[in-house]
Amino acid sequence: MTAFKTLDDLGDVTGKVALVRVDLNLPMQDGAVTDDTRIRAAMPTVLELADKGAKVLLLAHFGRPKGERVSTQSLSMVVGAVQDTLGREVMFVPEIAGDVVKQAIGILRAGDIAVLENTRFWKGEEKNDPELVKAIAANADFYVNDAFSAAHRAHATTEGLAHVLPAYAGRSMQAELEALEKALGNPVRPVAAVVGGAKVSSKLDVLKHLVGQVDHLIIGGGMANTFLAARGVDVGKSLCEHDLTGTAEEIMEAADKANCTIHLPYEVVVSKEFAANPPSLRTSNVHEVAADEMILDVGPTAVEALADALKTCRTLVWNGPLGAFETVPFDAATVALAKTAAALTKEGVLVSVAGGGDTVAALHHAGVANDFSYISTAGGAFLEWMEGRELPGVAALQR
Ligand code: ADP
Ligand code: MG
Repeated sequence: MTAFKTLDDLGDVTGKVALVRVDLNLPMQDGAVTDDTRIRAAMPTVLELADKGAKVLLLAHFGRPKGERVSTQSLSMVVGAVQDTLGREVMFVPEIAGDVVKQAIGILRAGDIAVLENTRFWKGEEKNDPELVKAIAANADFYVNDAFSAAHRAHATTEGLAHVLPAYAGRSMQAELEALEKALGNPVRPVAAVVGGAKVSSKLDVLKHLVGQVDHLIIGGGMANTFLAARGVDVGKSLCEHDLTGTAEEIMEAADKANCTIHLPYEVVVSKEFAANPPSLRTSNVHEVAADEMILDVGPTAVEALADALKTCRTLVWNGPLGAFETVPFDAATVALAKTAAALTKEGVLVSVAGGGDTVAALHHAGVANDFSYISTAGGAFLEWMEGRELPGVAALQR
């Protein structure tokens, strides 16, 4: 990974104007923010800059207003929550460029914080329009990107600004990049990846990339059924993408060539109906799944074998649950392997990085989210990184 500048590289910023790209795409209900995780993620960077005496202007998008002013998607709605979480007074500025922003900067004192309007109210944001980039940059001295979750988009405030202003990674961005570097960029081997979730089709590029990167690829969840079917297993009524068995075979061949061991479940938990603790629940060898049964989790003996494989590894990257974890007892395999990973991490023998909406929920459910080395909440950007793609927002910081 090429180097990028961090807040440690800033000189004296007293009275200087910082444009800080953060993630304020907050979950809301009836006009109230229901979860301030993303504000808390931005907090170290925002407070550090404010405490160093910068005038801190926060840039963020909210929803998909598609280049129009949509009053229900104004960032003015989140200012109260930002104030509460930061414990500081925060000004709202209903523009992102021009005289209104300039006047606001005139009012702000060193160390003050303002939230600018939803960047996606301007068409030039998603087009990365150089004119808009110039106009936003004109009011500022430097740019900080602290929104890894938006780094897979080459937009004006996620990428463009890094070309026209001195650009720095914020603390969250820095932590994310450092964790990802340890997980796949330059990992301690052996490396294991767990890829689970519903469908192969949503994670084809992830699987294709990982077979060339990791020593052990543990495939679970619904997508394992497609691989089992490719190996001639009758998966009954299980979720399975039969049209992708050829692709699954190609992935297994590529893994063979790359010396990557693929672990598929040889024992599974099945039932005839998808419900909590169904009467037809049983554990089965994969070769004995009945035509009217569904595979909903990895079996307990098979999970123990996965845990043993994990114990030989020094690095783990995890995306996707091993079973239909929202419904008991199909959370058992995910919970068991997550606990093993957490224990190994606590012992200091494993670097563990996980990401993905349902994966993060599953790790919280297992009670181990805080014991992993790093949990990414970045969604799309995390998956694109797992696909081995260059993220434009990151690349722009690295030049
Ligand atoms: P993430 O959001 O972490 O990327 P995914 O969205 O790819 O994960 O996958 C999560 C979903 O996969 C969950 O809703 C889970 O119930 C489902 N799933 C896992 N295993 C199975 C299975 N065997 N059959 C059906 N659905 C499954
Ligand atoms: Mg999901």
